[in-house]
Amino acid sequence: MELTENVLEIRDLVKDFPGVRAVNNVSFDIKRNTVHCLVGENGAGKSTLIKILTGAYTRTSGKILLNGEEYNPHNPREAGQKGISTLFQELNVVDQLTVADNLTLGMEDTTFGFLRKTDKINKMVSVMNSIEPSIHPQQQVSTLSVAKKQIVEIAKAVATESDIIIMDEPTAAISESEIKRLFTIIQGLREQNVTVIYISHRLDEIFEIGDYVTVLRDGRHIDTKPLAEVKDRAELIKMMIGKTVFEQYTPKEDADRDVLLQVHHLSNHKLNDISFDVHAGRLPVSTAWWGPVRPNSPAPSMAPTLTKARFALRTRSSSLLLIRPLRRASPWYRRKEDPRVCSPF
Ligand code: ADP
Ligand code: MG
Repeated sequence: MELTENVLEIRDLVKDFPGVRAVNNVSFDIKRNTVHCLVGENGAGKSTLIKILTGAYTRTSGKILLNGEEYNPHNPREAGQKGISTLFQELNVVDQLTVADNLTLGMEDTTFGFLRKTDKINKMVSVMNSIEPSIHPQQQVSTLSVAKKQIVEIAKAVATESDIIIMDEPTAAISESEIKRLFTIIQGLREQNVTVIYISHRLDEIFEIGDYVTVLRDGRHIDTKPLAEVKDRAELIKMMIGKTVFEQYTPKEDADRDVLLQVHHLSNHKLNDISFDVHAGRLPVSTAWWGPVRPNSPAPSMAPTLTKARFALRTRSSSLLLIRPLRRASPWYRRKEDPRVCSPF
């Protein structure tokens, strides 16, 4: 079969929920062997679109072509059989089972003969080994990090010859070095004829990993273009929110909130020159390490006065201050560059 240039073609797709049109006449193509990013503010319709692709939702109207053929999955299992796998945020692995058992989950189908099943398992294990040799098939999944659990799922998707792997916020719960590793894996997937649909609200990641980006807003398709043609984050944000206003996108400044607590140059045997203000209704979550600052850590440049403490603090009419050690950079900290998530309230 000759491969079509577009692995997926979405035409006039509509999904209505009572009182809301979550996906509104959306049409765009996804080219084969690319990393295609999907972005948009909360409520833009990303998840609904993905759920239609994975067979979790039925569409109200519209057409989807997968490899040039009409695609209308009735459930996620059927979507998987037709070549679309999804790495959901809540991973599908079962902690109590071994890696090998997880790989074969869903293969109980009697259409698989014993030998075919063994073949499949071998292929999955070999794909997994090529990605991450340190994962042992007999290892219990509960002993694996989130990143390694993702690898088990990716191996399963690759070995079952998925044309498309959808990744929904795959970096939400993994560390900086694991993100780098995941990106290398994603780049490798392109060479294995896999197209990745990548959803993230971290725009820096989109620029780093993506070939194409599709922007949705209020259920509508705003644009699909090569990332090489998107000038910068500001352009992407403008497409997402419809205005050239960083101010509207960035959380409101603290200046107009009441200052409930000010700390100036606080030092003791563990804290070194800490200064901060606490504003009513804010939840600052910070930064830094007990012990030596690591060479590539973002701490010194981002919060020079907060290099030896982490605090979480919620204030409305009253305030509560917690100080506890930080094992690794908090998500807020890592995402400081993203204006929407730098202040998660
Ligand atoms: P995103 O993933 O981009 O944040 P969603 O696809 O989750 O957006 O939501 C798009 C719109 O559809 C929102 O207005 C949301 O409230 C609505 N919506 C999503 N899922 C449902 C549902 N199961 N029932 C009713 N409304 C829904
Ligand atoms: Mg969503």
